[in-house]
Amino acid sequence: MLYVHIPFCHRKCTYCAFYSTPSASLRAGFVDALLREIHLRGTGHNAPVQTVYFGGGTPSLLPLHDLRRIVDTLASVFDLGRVREATIECNPEDLTPDYVSGLRQIGLFNRISLGVQSFDDSLLRLVGRRHTAAQATAAVETLSQAGFDNITVDLIYGIPGLSNDAWLEAVTRAAALPVKHISAYALTVEEGTALARQVESGRLALPDDDVVVSQYHILCRTLRSAGFEHYEVSNFARPGFASQHNSRYWDRTPYLGFGPAAHSFDGLRRRWNVADVARYVSSLGEGGGWYGEELLSDADARNEAVMTGLRTARGIPHRLASPQQMQPYIQRGWIVDDGTAYRPTESGMLYADGMASDLFV
Ligand code: SF4
Repeated sequence: MLYVHIPFCHRKCTYCAFYSTPSASLRAGFVDALLREIHLRGTGHNAPVQTVYFGGGTPSLLPLHDLRRIVDTLASVFDLGRVREATIECNPEDLTPDYVSGLRQIGLFNRISLGVQSFDDSLLRLVGRRHTAAQATAAVETLSQAGFDNITVDLIYGIPGLSNDAWLEAVTRAAALPVKHISAYALTVEEGTALARQVESGRLALPDDDVVVSQYHILCRTLRSAGFEHYEVSNFARPGFASQHNSRYWDRTPYLGFGPAAHSFDGLRRRWNVADVARYVSSLGEGGGWYGEELLSDADARNEAVMTGLRTARGIPHRLASPQQMQPYIQRGWIVDDGTAYRPTESGMLYADGMASDLFV
């Protein structure tokens, strides 16, 4: 599985801690460096690729000819003949009919991840998004008409000013779109973001936890009755449309990540590229020093498996926890024991991180 990080955004959303920069002047050097990294690391890699994911940042900010160069380079180095799922993240404001038809013509992408986030323009502005709700709806329509039938949309809840009624309406509206998958995340305050500064200075107050929890349950209930399966704490899919790429991350399948800030995993070692486009470009030019890596210990590997397992409907196999450890969670209604695995309930998924850290070795 391959991940390509496109580290550019038109401007930074207030809540976002992903690595991206608005600097357009770095784009040409970035694409050349990225192609070089793909050649350097991919050559000799013989296993057929099953999933590809272009994330960011905003991949749809790249001109089509750059996307084509990247895809052509991947195809020249890897066996892409058996790719089952190839996703590209897009922002609604970029998806003109011409751009969408160009994406189709590239031929690789069969799944589009669209950053919708909200259907309320004032909330979109509050969190720094550039698009409107009407643009998001139009983008889904444009994608659908162009033949993209596997579309996923992202939503955010727990935004200051988002009422439970408005959230119910937003989830209902998203489910009525021609989409196969919905990801929904609670707004969280990440260190170093504009949102963190707004909250610290008292200019913005986040909703209480009980509001966020009730919006989570509204989300789960509404999507369940619309026919979506809740397969990971933040991810819901129509039957057969769970993200194959992300499910493989959670299964700890090895993957190669290219581009600034991209991570890779070979089954033993985790590797991370430098989160700085200028340094990425210059160190690739010099032939080294664009990444760091660590060997995962058995304990690290086990703890990661517990953490990711408890966030997914599949849960964790019995061998990763003892009955005594899980009993309090079963009593609280957070875990069910299906005889072979401890599986989180809808409520339990919310507390996956806390449970996992109790089980860490
Ligand atoms: S568009 Fe996406 S990656 Fe870019 S700043 Fe906004 S949330 Fe972050």
